[in-house]
Amino acid sequence: MSATTSHKKAKALKPGSRRPAKELCSECGLCDTYYIHYVKEACAFIHQQIAELETQAHGRSRDLDNENDLYFGVYQEMITAQKKEPIAGAQWTGIVSAIACKMLTEGLVEGVVCVQNSENDRFQPKPIIATTTEEILGARVNKPTLSPNLSVLEQIEQSGMKRLLVIGVGCQIQALREVEDKLGLEKLYVLGTPCVDNVTREGLQKFLDTTSDSPDTVVAYEFMQDFRVHFKHEDGRVEKVPFFGLKTNQLKDVFAPSCMTCFDYVNSLADLVVGYMGSPFGWQWIVVRNDTGKEMLDLVQDQLKTQPVMSKGNRKQAVQNSIPAYDKGVTLPMWAAKLMGVVIEKVGPQGLEYARFSIDSHFTRNYLYVKRNYPEKLDAHVPSYAKKIVSQYQLPDN
Ligand code: FAD
Ligand code: SF4
Repeated sequence: MSATTSHKKAKALKPGSRRPAKELCSECGLCDTYYIHYVKEACAFIHQQIAELETQAHGRSRDLDNENDLYFGVYQEMITAQKKEPIAGAQWTGIVSAIACKMLTEGLVEGVVCVQNSENDRFQPKPIIATTTEEILGARVNKPTLSPNLSVLEQIEQSGMKRLLVIGVGCQIQALREVEDKLGLEKLYVLGTPCVDNVTREGLQKFLDTTSDSPDTVVAYEFMQDFRVHFKHEDGRVEKVPFFGLKTNQLKDVFAPSCMTCFDYVNSLADLVVGYMGSPFGWQWIVVRNDTGKEMLDLVQDQLKTQPVMSKGNRKQAVQNSIPAYDKGVTLPMWAAKLMGVVIEKVGPQGLEYARFSIDSHFTRNYLYVKRNYPEKLDAHVPSYAKKIVSQYQLPDN
């Protein structure tokens, strides 16, 4: 039986048309393909099913009584790492691109789903199935915008590929896990990154225009562990803007509604996750979730410097203080914001505690957003681990 006839199909939606998840759509790409047939089960914003899919992907769902599981999901191993020779122009040291290249050259996979940028706009995502290392390297660095990575799914089936690596963020990977057995593959590898506070292309422009001193020359940015946004510019300059100085009142609506209702910051369903937030500044944070993830990481061990994960400080009061500050859209004068950034960097949470700080502050904010805007979705949409995390804090009544 041919793989193309083994599942049901429906007509893909036209670009720009309203998606089943309406304003909560994160443009993951599924609805650009005939796999839209499965949208009611697969869409992360229509049918939250992280615990069930964890069991499918990793053999168990996370243990809510184990603190690391509760926060970071099912895992076998967590480490801190850097590429000994960083890949120039990568978001961090290029561990994601290095793993993908090695999987292709070693013949583990025939193709890699990743996202390049369009020719005339460095931030406009262009998902591809890469079949050469040049194409993988052409996708390095974050496209800090919603990206329809799954829009290439039909091409996978048509190409006849049997072994595939998909690189993606949480909402893309949730939908992918639901349709994975319909892709006609023998083996799927999933390499995830954490993701939070993503924006549409227009939202990105507003963020750059209100925050950077030179929006047109920004090539990449990241919300860093030193409580500053680092903007990398074309000429190599790094501009640093303290979180506490962001114009929160103007930026409140900039994040996509999908990201304001997301509780899968740590990409729970990927085999291997590569981020930075659980590691000291300058290092990447790696979470191996299952044997497939271990197989992927082992391929590049000789290219990495590693150290154990660490944790320092106590985030709780800072998170509690962030709740009303965000709500009121407080912006500090720049001198005070810089001072606050310096103090927090010295005494504030580090390593895994910084990751927990970031998860707590985003989950409390998002919980309130869902409660206020989609009260009918609150119970089913918020996973039980997120409810437990949020319950540690005092939230406003309405
Ligand atoms: P590189 O080797 O540069 O490769 C980057 C890979 O990411 C490429 O393969 C590309 O295909 C893929 N990619 C780029 N943009 C997108 C996109 N929009 N959607 C899906 N895939 C994409 N990590 C944290 O620890 N904390 C965070 O808060 C955090 N926020 C993030 C927000 C966004 C929007 C994104 C895309 C990533 C975020 N990350 C976060 C992950 C982190 O920024 C790095 O991507 C990760 O550490 C890998 O770095 P690298 O140098 O190994 O990647
Ligand atoms: Fe479709 Fe993905 Fe949008 Fe959900 S998030 S409606 S699956 S494109």
